[in-house]
Amino acid sequence: MPTLWSATALLPDGWAKDVRITIDHGLVSAIDTGTPALPGDDHHHILLPGLANVHSHAFQRGMAGLAEHRGTKADDNFWSWREVMYRFLDRLTPDDMEAIAAMAYAEMLETGYTHVGEFHYLHHDAEGGAYADPAEMAARIAAAAHATGIGLTLLPVFYAHSNFGGAPPTPGQRRFIHNLDSFARLLDACRPLLADGDRLGIAPHSLRAVTPEQLAHLIAMHPHGPIHIHAAEQVKEVTDCLAFLGKRPVEWLDDNVALDPRWCLIHATHLTDAETDRLAVSGAVAGLCPITEANLGDGIFPAKRFLDAGGRIATGTDSNILIDPSQELRALEYSQRLAHRSRNVLASDACPSVARRLFGATLAGGAQAVGIAPGLAVGHSADFMTLDPRHPAMHGRSGDQLLDNMVFASRSNCIDSVWRRGERLVSAGRHRDAVQVTQRYLAVIDRILAA
Ligand code: ZN
Repeated sequence: MPTLWSATALLPDGWAKDVRITIDHGLVSAIDTGTPALPGDDHHHILLPGLANVHSHAFQRGMAGLAEHRGTKADDNFWSWREVMYRFLDRLTPDDMEAIAAMAYAEMLETGYTHVGEFHYLHHDAEGGAYADPAEMAARIAAAAHATGIGLTLLPVFYAHSNFGGAPPTPGQRRFIHNLDSFARLLDACRPLLADGDRLGIAPHSLRAVTPEQLAHLIAMHPHGPIHIHAAEQVKEVTDCLAFLGKRPVEWLDDNVALDPRWCLIHATHLTDAETDRLAVSGAVAGLCPITEANLGDGIFPAKRFLDAGGRIATGTDSNILIDPSQELRALEYSQRLAHRSRNVLASDACPSVARRLFGATLAGGAQAVGIAPGLAVGHSADFMTLDPRHPAMHGRSGDQLLDNMVFASRSNCIDSVWRRGERLVSAGRHRDAVQVTQRYLAVIDRILAA
């Protein structure tokens, strides 16, 4: 059985020294601490558990950076960005989807994400017709995940309307649309796509795109496993929700679907204090995407109040404009510093290190949201990363300072190697198939941009 020894490792009880990990069939079968390395052990210095990325739209990696210049309207916002995104996805074939997803997933692994929740809504062909296999696009997502080695929680999206009140979909949405019957067939077709350690959830897209009646059917259709939904990302969405449903999105959800630990509310940006407290006690995860939320000008999540109330958080790369969990945590803390005009806002008395508190919170919340067990423990998937002790940001640092330096004082290049299910997928900061994955990706981008 493969064994690995690290001078220091972050275990569920905290930092441990001289840690020896034994792996059997992709799972951790033993963890010994305070023990010398034995002959044949793979030697490392700083070992951390891998993180779950709870919210990705993989194909959007291909349009990263294409919407960063002012369009014809002076007030560029989420809705004008969405028009650019719709034009990009008009051109995507299943092969393109697989190539772009593989690029995104390789980058996720290189930055310490070992599992991804793919909020997958691009289901149909360019004209909006169903593929012969309703899970054609989902199969490409799964193929990319399996080729790169990242764990997958596949979250097929139910999308039926362009706005509250059951408004008909727009032409730009034609590749997303399902009714309840066709969605049930999609869900069935997704089950055989899962590999060991993968999970299947559902994703009602948002209260804009799903009526309350449809939402009730979807929950009944999938009685176990994760449920993800976009909620309260935009102020307009909140005001529309108030107009049509009489309540704000998170308030409405908690009143009508009984939020619990199966739920992950993506963004949950615009909350009243009462909603913040209710969401915190519900046990649901707030799936925060701080880089995308800043990029789209969404707003600032009330993280201090939410964490202090016991709320559970995770991070997602969402638009994949930039993939890096450390930078997500940095953006989250910095948004709070700017809002509160204070420092170390998301630290607590019990956990004075900002990065340690956020790393621990997103490790636990991320695993919950994608339906896997969190952290390095016997019986869990052997998903972890090592940091480069020769990186200048790591020099002379120990314990929580290592995380503070990873999050605030280094680029992602402090990560040396990443394993998932005991398999070393990243070495010296590069995915094992980075060259081929990148070549295929570049060819796809060339073709799409030339179209
Ligand atoms: Zn999203």
